[in-house]
Amino acid sequence: MARLALLGLVIAVFILLVRVFFPAKKEKTADTKEMVQDPNCETYVPKAEAIERSVQGKNHYFCSQKCAEEFSRKNA
Ligand SMILES: [Zn+2]
Repeated sequence: MARLALLGLVIAVFILLVRVFFPAKKEKTADTKEMVQDPNCETYVPKAEAIERSVQGKNHYFCSQKCAEEFSRKNA
């Protein structure tokens, strides 16, 4: 019985240590709230709502389809 209690204690300490060294990641929520700048009209838009388009091999984020088209036309 004492061994079982000791085993329980070891497991509890192990779980505690894992929680300390590997805290729950919050990257996903931070990612959706990240603001990106529209290079065409210089407006900041949330990354989740922005229109992503590759222009000259570089990824850009735009507030609207119109801005994306304008920018790629200017940088064609
Ligand atoms: Zn724009």
